[in-house]
Amino acid sequence: MSKRILVTSALPYANGPIHLGHLAGAYLPADLYTRFQRLNEKDIIHICGSDEHGVPITIAAEKEDVSPQEIVDRYHTANKAVFKKFGIDFDYYGRTSSETHRKTSQDIFLKLYEKGIFKKKSQEQLYDEEADMFLPDRYVKGTCPVCGHPEAYGDQCEKCGSSLSPTELIDPVSAITGNKPVIKKTDHWFIPLGDFQPWLETWIDSRDNWKPNVTGQCKSWLNAGLSDRAVTRDLSWGVPVPLPDGEGKVLYVWFDAPIGYISATKEWAEQKGEPELWKTYWQDEDTSLIHFIGKDNIVFHCIMFPATLKEHGDYVLPENVPANEFLNLEGRKLSTSKGWAVWLNEYLNDFEPDLLRYVLGTTLPETKDSDFSWNDFQNRVNSELADILGNFVFRSTSFTHRFFDGSVPELSNPTETDMQALKAIGEQKEKIEAAYKAYRFREAIAETMHLARIGNRYFTETEPWKTRKENPEACGNTLYVSLQISSALSVLFQPVLPQKMHLLRNQLGIPEATTWQKINDHLIPSGQIIGEAGILFEKIEDEVVEKQVQKLIERAGENEQKEEKVEYEPLKKSVDFGNFASLDLRAGKIEHAEKIKKSKKLLKITVNLGFEKRTILSGISEYFKPDEIIGKTVCIVANLEPKKMMGIESNGMILMGENSDGSLHFVETTAEPGSPVV
Ligand SMILES: [Zn+2]
Repeated sequence: MSKRILVTSALPYANGPIHLGHLAGAYLPADLYTRFQRLNEKDIIHICGSDEHGVPITIAAEKEDVSPQEIVDRYHTANKAVFKKFGIDFDYYGRTSSETHRKTSQDIFLKLYEKGIFKKKSQEQLYDEEADMFLPDRYVKGTCPVCGHPEAYGDQCEKCGSSLSPTELIDPVSAITGNKPVIKKTDHWFIPLGDFQPWLETWIDSRDNWKPNVTGQCKSWLNAGLSDRAVTRDLSWGVPVPLPDGEGKVLYVWFDAPIGYISATKEWAEQKGEPELWKTYWQDEDTSLIHFIGKDNIVFHCIMFPATLKEHGDYVLPENVPANEFLNLEGRKLSTSKGWAVWLNEYLNDFEPDLLRYVLGTTLPETKDSDFSWNDFQNRVNSELADILGNFVFRSTSFTHRFFDGSVPELSNPTETDMQALKAIGEQKEKIEAAYKAYRFREAIAETMHLARIGNRYFTETEPWKTRKENPEACGNTLYVSLQISSALSVLFQPVLPQKMHLLRNQLGIPEATTWQKINDHLIPSGQIIGEAGILFEKIEDEVVEKQVQKLIERAGENEQKEEKVEYEPLKKSVDFGNFASLDLRAGKIEHAEKIKKSKKLLKITVNLGFEKRTILSGISEYFKPDEIIGKTVCIVANLEPKKMMGIESNGMILMGENSDGSLHFVETTAEPGSPVV
């Protein structure tokens, strides 16, 4: 293991709030790992920040008709605050719109440019003539050439996951004006990833302990063969290309975003008053660089960024990229546009951060997609946090208060059972440690909870409520052992439950500075007075989680209605004017209406046309009651050939408007009955 660790977690786009999927992908695992290593007294820093460039930002700004700066300011501030509230312990949370970042990414670009790495190529690109701009990435929508999905984006189809380029889309339209784009030539700089392929293959093969989902994805990119990839875009928002012929162009967001880790580390060092310190973390071989990301970012962190860093030459390469798969929500794919998401700020209004840290930690999508459900949330809080951990600690401390005046008893003449339970502390500690080091956080959390389970079982088996009369020494031993386990848990669980374990350590009198190494089976000395027992975890009632599920369903429903497209009937073939003019349309007043027996649909309506009264049958009985329509003046096709239905002759037709949901509306007029509708 190297001297120091640099942890980065994926820079979230500053165009929306943080949700559970973000947390499960990168931030919670990165935080668990960092907190564990800090407890181990490792020299470790955790760097993150807002990704403030790229098309998603400018599109969000255009949607709201505000400047991109306004969007990134808003979400940078909000996201930074919500991460802090949730207990994600960043050393620095930067932003890619900073001056340090502009300079750092331009320097790296220029170094590679001067080495002659980039190829400048003229490329055919889609261009919106009305908006007067090229249409990179998400500025184009169209039909996916792979699966036929009609709403694919210029960089990706969200239905089949294919990575696309805008010119591949069938029937492309501009996302700005809805116009059909034209093709225009433009120059861009490309990184010839193919040249890096042999090196990348060897390098990825040489990586120890990479997760199979990560190496698998890298291998499939390599097997397909790497090709040139543009590192610039025709956009006005981003880091300007620092070349005389690069005017009006910016660096591709995926070229500059990972460099954001470097610029944020520089700013962190600056803030500490040691401006050169960042180099120790980025340029000293004795650093382990670990990128925590979601699976959609693997290609950028395992292929593009390492190729950039390698070619630059001054930087360390990632030791590991423990990418997670995706988190689903209540069995469905998480979707922010459809409102199928749990936003962290909303969660924190209703619940404590540690509950979610625990539940999400036990369900992280480490090797395959996993699912978060409110039911599971309730179950784990109630049956694990409350019934196992909380109950065990409560029993241990409240019994000590009742029978030993709150003073930790002596251990004397312990039985084999007592000794086994004490030994479990060291055994579990080793298992937990191994799991954390291997990025298996679910396992680390399960093994920690297992120690509480062992403690709970031991407490029940040794029956201190009985022994306190028959054998006070045995009762004292039970409480001594239970308090040792509780004390160990207050440190072992610290990475997962920082707030709750802080409370528990306070109660037991375990020093805050207790490190992982110091955890053993006599952490709390005999004779130490402990604080009053309190409830660590309240149980969650059924209606509380039902409300959350309801909220989710309602919001997704609203969004569906908002997004639902009206399907219009295709136009009929055109008719000549003569045919049209031969239709005689008149205003007619409904004087009487009644249901026809045996017919579900038909109403028998008497219409006054001024010069005569007509009987017209109309199939609107399911939509209108006879009383409602009497008195309306409506439009009638007056010269339609008579038609017999249910034994009654109908003379004409009443015009109706029909909505997409099938509901009907009269075409009403204020003209006098009998007057022509022209
Ligand atoms: Zn597709």
